Amino acid sequence: MKQSNYNFLYDLESEENSVLIYNSRTNALAVMDAKHTHMFNAFVHNKREITDEEFLKSLVDGGFVVEDDVSELSIIKYQLLSSRFNTKVLALTIAATSDCNFRCIYCYEKNSMKAGSKMTDETKENLIKFIGEQIDTIEQLSINWYGGEPLLVMDIIEEMSERLIKLCEEKGVAYTAGIVTNGYLLSTEIARRLAVCKVTNMQITIDGPEEIHNKRRPLAGGQGTFKKILENVKDSKGLIDHISIRINTDQENVNETNKLIKDIKEMGVDSENVSFYLGFVESHNDCYLDEKCLTAEAFSKKHLDFMKENGIHLMNAYPALVANFCGADLKNSFVVDSAGLLYKCWNDVGIVERAVGSVAPHDADDTRRYNDLLYYDYMLYDATEDEECRDCKFLPICMGGCPFRRRGNGNRCVDKKYIMEEYLRACATALMRG
Ligand code: SF4
Ligand code: SF4
Repeated sequence: MKQSNYNFLYDLESEENSVLIYNSRTNALAVMDAKHTHMFNAFVHNKREITDEEFLKSLVDGGFVVEDDVSELSIIKYQLLSSRFNTKVLALTIAATSDCNFRCIYCYEKNSMKAGSKMTDETKENLIKFIGEQIDTIEQLSINWYGGEPLLVMDIIEEMSERLIKLCEEKGVAYTAGIVTNGYLLSTEIARRLAVCKVTNMQITIDGPEEIHNKRRPLAGGQGTFKKILENVKDSKGLIDHISIRINTDQENVNETNKLIKDIKEMGVDSENVSFYLGFVESHNDCYLDEKCLTAEAFSKKHLDFMKENGIHLMNAYPALVANFCGADLKNSFVVDSAGLLYKCWNDVGIVERAVGSVAPHDADDTRRYNDLLYYDYMLYDATEDEECRDCKFLPICMGGCPFRRRGNGNRCVDKKYIMEEYLRACATALMRG
């Protein structure tokens, strides 16, 4: 037997000679008392056999020790490939319009926004055909409505949802849906109609207390949006299963996030089905430059403090085991724009030269070219072969990080890298308190 390469050990201040142990390949977290810490150290440093069978079984179950001939890196690679090329789920993020009623300061779609753009009937048919070609081989169709602002084209969401839900029912395929919206056009009536479209998850961004939010996320005409969005969330609470409020955080609003939560609570917007989290903002346009952003490290620390200070359960941010990072490196996942072009990453949408395909059928004399290089770069990257990542203890909960950032667009390391010890200690304390 040998120690796992993915163990994190921290001395426990509350109990002498005891340690907190976490394994990033299995996600197991445990406390070892002084007696067992002594046995574990003797095993690791002096190769002394562990004779306490119950203890050894716990260590094996948690992945803290593995057989000598086990290659943990091979297991991780196998899981990556199995997940990446699994085609049981077809996941489509559909931007049925690239138009938006907001003009956010950091918008990465700013250059591709088209007023009045809307998916045409021809593209809708092609999209239905594209899904229809795969419906017999999938077990789940997962749709995420996106934009621009998707509620500007509620008619398309309703029409397409009805057709897709029917198709899935006929074929015995599970159907799930979510939406990313700025929330301005949300109303009780719209929430009801979204629920009919089986939209169960909604993400809305609020950027701080009223004055700050209105400066960062105004309407196209410059008017504020804060009050209306929060009233809308309040009115739709019981209709959408889960609403997550994202707070895009940078230098400008980093000290205002707690005030926002206080304001939200005072307005009666919080409830069991509304949750809050901080979003990392990056520079994607000429008006919003890197100086405004937080470093990855500062952001991670801020997020942990935010959770602690606002009573958000720390287990909500417990690391997730990552086989592949996101839809960008998953075979059966695409972002579809209003023209029917297919992309791998949300940040690529609307930049035609980053399209990797189209829902439109190809004719024999078709001369369209898609970005094969980008497609294969997303799909064939292997973090277990990456010099920076292959020996990194965070690999199983990061897998090389965001593929878009890996391509030279910022820091890709998982946020836990900067706060692991503090985070795990806080988690353990909370769990031990019950
Ligand atoms: S590549 Fe990065 S930015 Fe693009 S969808 Fe994946 S996580 Fe998001
Ligand atoms: S991206 Fe960073 S944290 Fe993630 S596996 Fe690579 S080196 Fe580790």
